[in-house]
Amino acid sequence: MDEAEKIRRAKVDAAEQAAIAGIPVNILKRYKAAQQRFKARGGCPGCGSLILSMHRGDCPTNKDDLY
Ligand SMILES: [Zn+2]
Repeated sequence: MDEAEKIRRAKVDAAEQAAIAGIPVNILKRYKAAQQRFKARGGCPGCGSLILSMHRGDCPTNKDDLY
């Protein structure tokens, strides 16, 4: 491997590390946006829960979400 290739690979590695580090922030933003849309739609059609991925009792939608 020559120097240019080593530098190129180091840059790719650094970019990958930065992308990995950024994922939790993106997930959090997406979750918050999804949560807001979910609430705006009136929550879960099965149990009326307004919190995404949280259901009450034996909610039929919750059961569907498992598979
Ligand atoms: Zn539900």
